[in-house]
Amino acid sequence: MTKHPDPAVITGYAGGDPAIDEATLWSVEVHLETCAECRARLAGGAPAGTQALLDRVAAGLDREIAAGPAPTARSRTWTAARRRWLVWSLLPWLTMTGVLLGVAALLALAQPSMPSLVLLSAPIAPLPGVAVAWGRRNDPAWELVASAPRAGLGMLLRRTLAVLVVIIPLLALAGAGTGVSLAMTLVPCLAFTAATIALGAVLGVARAAIGLTVAWVLAVLTPSVLTHHLPVLLRPGSLGIWLLLTVAMAGFALSRADSFRRMSSTN
Ligand SMILES: [Zn+2]
Repeated sequence: MTKHPDPAVITGYAGGDPAIDEATLWSVEVHLETCAECRARLAGGAPAGTQALLDRVAAGLDREIAAGPAPTARSRTWTAARRRWLVWSLLPWLTMTGVLLGVAALLALAQPSMPSLVLLSAPIAPLPGVAVAWGRRNDPAWELVASAPRAGLGMLLRRTLAVLVVIIPLLALAGAGTGVSLAMTLVPCLAFTAATIALGAVLGVARAAIGLTVAWVLAVLTPSVLTHHLPVLLRPGSLGIWLLLTVAMAGFALSRADSFRRMSSTN
């Protein structure tokens, strides 16, 4: 168990003191989960109005519990609706990515002298999906997410994985049809996904995804198409650099796990 927080902090926490910073709030909440003594102090430290409210809520809960089992069907419907919502908001983006990759594969087959558009678009292919999966505008449950402090990075990773599960087979399929290296398709894709999460810790995930996509299109994709020249970055010799980048970005994202505690307004 962590050290007991200062009694003044507990009183401030009970009264909703705005002067308490988020890190302190967080440590108090974690501590309260495991310390009955401080929970008792918290109950005693609440202002009179809060005490009266808590008493009313407790009395109401007692009545409801006495009345019978809680209706669980409603929460199940909510979870199912939420999942459907997320899937539906992702579907157009994933479909669009699939169509673009299909076009890239067809172009590569029709114009073998051009640098492979599948290779060129692999790094940015998952980014629209990642941005959509984490935007609060696209998630009616974001308030729940925001109130579950430790959900942050774990939830982002689960949603990112859901996007990759669709994008990676599409990339592999598009790449196999055009004979490009599977590793040079997938590793840059993972590196950019990791970079989006890492930069997302600083800028917000959606902004990071848009920024990286625009930078890649302007700095690499467009010049390669115009000059008919595949950049060194996307040749097999650069695989090590991409692997290093993936590991470094994933490490940075993990070290900043606290930044994903809530879907901030920057998303
Ligand atoms: Zn304590």
